[in-house]
Amino acid sequence: MKVFLQNIWSLIKVGKIPCRSTNCKAIILRRTASETGGYCMPCNRRKFEEFDKANRKDINLFENVMDPVEIIKIYHQPKDRSDPLMHYTPYPYPIERVYEQLNKSDIPKLIFYTINMLEAGEKDVAIDIAIELVSLFNLDFTAILEKLMSINEYYPAYLFRAARPSIRDNILKRLSDEESGDETLSRNQLFEALAWVGDKKVVRWYAEKSKKSFPHPSPITDHTKAAGWELDKESNRRNLYYSMCYNLEKQTKPPSHQIHPSFQSGNDHCRWCKKKLTNLIRLDLSDKRLSFIEWTKPYLTLGTCLRCVDYSDRYFAAIDENGDSIWSSYNNIEPEAPEWADELFEPLKNCLVLSCEPRSAYYGLNCWVPNLSQIGGFPSWIQHYDYQHCPSCHETMIFIGQFSGEDSWSGDGIYYVFLCSKCSLSATTYQQS
Ligand SMILES: [Zn+2]
Ligand SMILES: [Zn+2]
Ligand SMILES: [Zn+2]
Repeated sequence: MKVFLQNIWSLIKVGKIPCRSTNCKAIILRRTASETGGYCMPCNRRKFEEFDKANRKDINLFENVMDPVEIIKIYHQPKDRSDPLMHYTPYPYPIERVYEQLNKSDIPKLIFYTINMLEAGEKDVAIDIAIELVSLFNLDFTAILEKLMSINEYYPAYLFRAARPSIRDNILKRLSDEESGDETLSRNQLFEALAWVGDKKVVRWYAEKSKKSFPHPSPITDHTKAAGWELDKESNRRNLYYSMCYNLEKQTKPPSHQIHPSFQSGNDHCRWCKKKLTNLIRLDLSDKRLSFIEWTKPYLTLGTCLRCVDYSDRYFAAIDENGDSIWSSYNNIEPEAPEWADELFEPLKNCLVLSCEPRSAYYGLNCWVPNLSQIGGFPSWIQHYDYQHCPSCHETMIFIGQFSGEDSWSGDGIYYVFLCSKCSLSATTYQQS
């Protein structure tokens, strides 16, 4: 007993005291004790959790709401967070699924609501809804865009995807007003919005601009790439992605016969790490769904080294006569990978199946939506857009598909695959947040 008291006394002298929970042996700083009422941090947290559990008020705003428009409104509506004991039950499914259920008569209601939100100063709510609508539907959103322009809001630029001529002319007018002195608007945002409109008149406008800056590359043509296109040698629009898109649905058990086997080990090895290449997917082009892909051989394998691609800017793979993915000698600078890179490398367990129906090519414009793995469509850039140049013919390669880290061993990030059909070369890149 004496020894015990001595111990306590020596602790008190150095400014430490025991936690006041009965069964806890932790010794804590006096400063901590004064903040927690004498408890150690874990006990304090437990106390809070218990209190929270006993007193929390669960509010399910979605209860008995069946109308998708109402569900969407509730989902985006700003919640009162002033009471920490109020817990809003989250919507149990990804909200994108509700958007996909909207029918033709629902959309005008949501457009009306979005405009109301903009008028009420709830810009973030309005833009969140607009992003979903523009990503999923090819409809006329002029009313929303006019409202956004009236408050000088051009971000994100892809909201202007396929905007109508009146909006386009309005943007062009603002750009020319600005040239004559009015510097209040952000020119870059206007350029990017215009690139997203991307119709014939816009293409001509960009062609003019790039002619003027010749022989220097025009900095503004960069914006067209952000919108997924570039000017070809004849000053025509060349798309860097396919407007058809099929998503790749994750299955934990592979079906007995897989038309397009995914995540399988390839035949060739990576000359850098000596591991087998991974076939992200082997596409069978006799499948009618894939007729949009420019490729003349019966098979097309998108392969990469999943270990080395994480540490390189890009990983090239050649595609042989059989459509198999093999090592490419264009991979010339071996990346420096940390030692643990090998330990983390695991074979892939999931299997991806091409969806029966196509989905919007722009589904993944906002890269935070679920189920991003897809063939075709627009890339879901997490960072800045990063189209690859073919090392053989130097043309910009076409985006052919992406594989979400969630569907592979890495758990996060996205693998993007680009293709030059002419040179039978693919390039894989990886981005993460
Ligand atoms: Zn304790
Ligand atoms: Zn490798
Ligand atoms: Zn090429």
